[in-house]
Amino acid sequence: MKQDYYEVLGVGKNATEGEIKKAYRKQAIKYHPDKNPGDQEAEAKFKLAAEAYEILSDSQKKAQYDQFGHAAFENGGFGGGGMNMEDIFSQFGDIFGSAFGGGFGGFGGGQRRMKGSDLRIRVTLSLEEIINGVEKKIKVKRKTQAPGVQFTTCSTCKGTGQVTRVANTILGRMQTASPCPKCQGSGQIISNRPSGSDAQGMIQEEETVSIKIPSGVEEGMQLKVSGKGNAAPGNGISGDLLVLIQEKQDENFVREGNHLHYDLYISIAEAALGISKEIALIDGKVRIKLESGIQSGKTLRLKNKGIRDLNGYGSGDLLVHINVWTPKVLNREQKKFFENMIEDDNFRPQPEKSDKSFFEKVKDMFA
Ligand SMILES: [Zn+2]
Repeated sequence: MKQDYYEVLGVGKNATEGEIKKAYRKQAIKYHPDKNPGDQEAEAKFKLAAEAYEILSDSQKKAQYDQFGHAAFENGGFGGGGMNMEDIFSQFGDIFGSAFGGGFGGFGGGQRRMKGSDLRIRVTLSLEEIINGVEKKIKVKRKTQAPGVQFTTCSTCKGTGQVTRVANTILGRMQTASPCPKCQGSGQIISNRPSGSDAQGMIQEEETVSIKIPSGVEEGMQLKVSGKGNAAPGNGISGDLLVLIQEKQDENFVREGNHLHYDLYISIAEAALGISKEIALIDGKVRIKLESGIQSGKTLRLKNKGIRDLNGYGSGDLLVHINVWTPKVLNREQKKFFENMIEDDNFRPQPEKSDKSFFEKVKDMFA
């Protein structure tokens, strides 16, 4: 014969909600498994008290119980199985409060792991570093757990980081979960805080982080170094280190995506006669042959001499822009030579269709 729920809690039939709660709390503390390790009888009483509270704290169930006794719940409610420990702790965790210091972490399952915050740094790269890829060693100030810090599972939420409240509303029994007020949702309580650490047992330390930067990265890209942000207390996981790429302007090359632009200056004589020129690249050199009569403003495209694509889609091109350098000062002989050429038909500009004017080039760009 099952014991009367009012007897279980030791209250009268006219007990108020507050009296029932208080009575249950007293029973729960008395028979709590932490206080009675291995005691089967205490565990049974603990469960029965929870069951009694579950019914008597609910006005509807209480009314049914008052009318029909245990028979009211034989085919529903708890069925035949009664409550297991997980049910009890998930439903009544807030009632236990902080009465128990010991961990009861086995219950509750899915413990939420806190994540440390991300750290952000900027890294400025030269074109050479972008083309070749580079490994940077960077000093980062990150939060880490102080040596010797210890945590225990939060007794209030049993490590789940959440407390569940059960309320009787006009819609029926409602369960609401909210972050555990004792551990702020981390599910753990600091039990040994080394001196010099903050309230969560964290210290700030400078760490040299090695960052492998692949070739072909671009201004504004963000690389993620997993786990090198701020650490989290206890069994939490570290945040990430986010590395923002910035480019240093190169003296000789201008980048456009994976293409590189280069201004080549040649003399009037070289333009007229044609010449072979060597261009020093970031990772080697390239020789180009300029035909005689090459025009200023012409662009030579050297395939695959630009930047290797970050994702392996080939390489960009090197665009060599020809600039014919006009001497600013002439000696007497040179002056005479050019004076003779003023009326020379051969020196009169006669641009061909292929020597596109600036305006046609612009038109092309927007076509
Ligand atoms: Zn907690």
